[in-house]
Amino acid sequence: MFNETKKLRSVVEIKLRKNMTFSPLNNQQGNQILTRIVRWLVQSAPGLTEPEKRRSRVLFWLQITLILLIGMVLVLDLLFNTGDNPRDHLYNILMASLMVGLLKAFDLNRKGRYRASTNLTVFLAFIGPWGSLLGDPTVMGGDFVPLTYLVLPVILASILLSVRVTLILATLQFGLLLCLPYFIPALGTINWVSFMSFIFFVSVLGAVSNFINRQDLKQIDESTHLLQESEARLREISVRDVMTGLFNRRYLEETLKREILRAERKQLPLGIILLDLDHFKRINDTYGHAAGDAVLRELGPSLKAHIRGSDFACRYGGEEFVLVMPEASLEVARQRAELLCQEAKKLKVSYAGMFLETVTFSIGVAAFPEHGSDSSSLLSVVDAAMYRAKNEGRNRVCVAGDEKAED
Ligand code: GH3
Ligand code: MG
Ligand code: MG
Repeated sequence: MFNETKKLRSVVEIKLRKNMTFSPLNNQQGNQILTRIVRWLVQSAPGLTEPEKRRSRVLFWLQITLILLIGMVLVLDLLFNTGDNPRDHLYNILMASLMVGLLKAFDLNRKGRYRASTNLTVFLAFIGPWGSLLGDPTVMGGDFVPLTYLVLPVILASILLSVRVTLILATLQFGLLLCLPYFIPALGTINWVSFMSFIFFVSVLGAVSNFINRQDLKQIDESTHLLQESEARLREISVRDVMTGLFNRRYLEETLKREILRAERKQLPLGIILLDLDHFKRINDTYGHAAGDAVLRELGPSLKAHIRGSDFACRYGGEEFVLVMPEASLEVARQRAELLCQEAKKLKVSYAGMFLETVTFSIGVAAFPEHGSDSSSLLSVVDAAMYRAKNEGRNRVCVAGDEKAED
């Protein structure tokens, strides 16, 4: 028994393998094409909120189902109904009109006009069954089964529209249903109370379950929103230096690598500036550590104010800062460094009711691709240039290339 099962399994496996080899369109390709078609069909337009996107996707599926259903009815009617009954023609015209309406609603949904599409779909789901009932001779003869379609707009409304609109629609449906036996006496022969109860309970159950689902989804959306907000806040905290408000070293290391790759790809330069405060220890020693902190706090926004939106400023270490300037040449970076050297002297930091002494920077400048093709080599070159500025007497700018020329 065990051996037979094994044999059978190997035969099935061989057959499957054969199929996979010889099929012109293997399963994976087929699935990919199908996924692409489905994605294209139910792709919600940009600009919708998350719950709207979700409902828009549900609406797509409902519309596709209804379009296929009506299409099938029309095709079957064309193929098999050879009779010349004028009521049948009327029915077909109604079905064709519903199809056109649904295609329009589908198109509105694709264009991002979710609300208009929803209203049109629910309206068609309301008008369709009533229209077909009134044109259907079997109803006139007392066949109540087509009346069951009347739950459709109520359930659709409960999925897509507000509770208030669903209630109004349900009341209207029941009002009309109650009046129906007066206009179609044949319906009086069926157990009308039982039928109404059935319609009522199916509508109420559908509407209530959709309402509960919507409440749950609303809560999930709210929690997701809160989580996303706190995640963004955490991400911001993790890349920022609290004292200066500039980016931290971790962010610099990650982003510099990315910016160099981008510069390489686009064949553009990238300027890098390293600034170190001169004799900062002296400020700490003279006025206290808190005064030094006050200087650093003032420097953050001042540095930020002197760079472009696409540049970024980071606190590299205690009193060292790095500016990364995508698309800036060595010369542009040098000019910016000179400007910062001048601006530093203008910075007035008050602490405990007095102005502290002015600060100066020793600045190193380098650029990609001249001085390195990766972040660590660029940082070490610019660091060396900054140290040369220190050695040459501080409060100055040194460019990495000049250093090489001297060597
Ligand atoms: P140089 O011109 O050679 O750069 O001299 P310097 O005093 O600036 O450099 P040094 O490396 O000797 O000292 C750096 C000082 O920066 C020492 C350290 O206490 C101070 N520092 C680093 N981080 C902070 C900080 O967050 N707050 C304060 N107040 N001081 C800091
Ligand atoms: Mg230093
Ligand atoms: Mg220093």
